[in-house]
Amino acid sequence: MSDTRCDLCGDSSCSVISDTDRHGQPLTTVMCDNCGLVRHRDIPSEEELREFYSTNYREEYNGERIPGPRRIMRAWNNGLRICRQISNHLPSGGSVFEVGAGIGCTVKVFERDGFAAKGIDPGGEFLKFSHDKLHADVAVGNLYDLPEDRSFDAVLLVHVIEHLRSPKLALLKIATLLKPGGLFYVECPNLSAPFARRSQLFHTAHIHNFVPATLRMLAESTGYRLRQRFGDERDPNLQMLFEYTGQCQLNVDPENVPRTLQELQRSDTLPYLARPRYLVDRARKLASYGEEHLRARSFVADLISTCQSAKREQEARRAAWYFLYVQLTTEWIPNGRFRLQAVRLFTLSVTYPERCRELRRVQGAVSAFHDSRILSGRRLPSDGRIAATAFAV
Ligand SMILES: [Zn+2]
Repeated sequence: MSDTRCDLCGDSSCSVISDTDRHGQPLTTVMCDNCGLVRHRDIPSEEELREFYSTNYREEYNGERIPGPRRIMRAWNNGLRICRQISNHLPSGGSVFEVGAGIGCTVKVFERDGFAAKGIDPGGEFLKFSHDKLHADVAVGNLYDLPEDRSFDAVLLVHVIEHLRSPKLALLKIATLLKPGGLFYVECPNLSAPFARRSQLFHTAHIHNFVPATLRMLAESTGYRLRQRFGDERDPNLQMLFEYTGQCQLNVDPENVPRTLQELQRSDTLPYLARPRYLVDRARKLASYGEEHLRARSFVADLISTCQSAKREQEARRAAWYFLYVQLTTEWIPNGRFRLQAVRLFTLSVTYPERCRELRRVQGAVSAFHDSRILSGRRLPSDGRIAATAFAV
């Protein structure tokens, strides 16, 4: 149950900084005396965490088992923001993988932006929504069970790292999923954000709490180099993009412990709250909450409808190309043409009655092939009825 060594620097000396969580329940939080990483004193085992996240986590943590419209709308907008932030750093059509994909919005946003995007999540109704409604490529899975095949251009870890018993192990594992020079994007709460009251900071599900320096030290100690930081040091969330270099360097910032302790005092809360930028940000946030209230239901209905028709289009395209393939191959089988065509046309007309537009596109392609009269070095049959019979359905 208890792990006394710091996950970042390995030091076993630490000091208690809080005895309660944000709800006033007992929770002992400590800070490493050497590097300043803040963590639970008693860290649950991997088995306990797997059990927690695959069963009742969403209900306990988010207060809902099935994602509500406002949560979905917010997740989609966050996905758009993340895609905007990092897509310029990725190759066109590159591969993106999200660990802890939740509702699946971010994966879907990247997919719609032309990337090969997929993800994993421990399971539950959030994953079911992602799968059934958004048709996002998100599967049940655990980071440590993934094959180490270095196949992704980027791995995302959005509001996940704070839940892990060993962020260091997770980052080392993620390195094995990345192509050489691949990118790692991480987002998590910022312990040093000045507006959060100390009594509201700690949460049972947040095993580790990061400030900018500890997140950066952790990434550098596991072979990453900072590519870009988004937002401000005092923003409520840290958003960082790292590049994997394979050079692990633990550079403990000696100023981090006193600085974090000072930030935890929150002595500058009032001046911080009175800043114009804070007030503008707050006004924007309230406006976005209002918009969520007004628009979330219709937004989610439109989103689901768009994803469903995109899925149908994709299936129709696949069926159409399959049809084209069979058509072209059977055309050359003597005497087999009519029987195969009958079965094929019947199947397609029952399965995809609405896909005429796709078929017209295929018809164009077939006609182009046919006009050229050459396919794989052979002449096509001269009667030219390849397309015409199919589109009579
Ligand atoms: Zn430490």
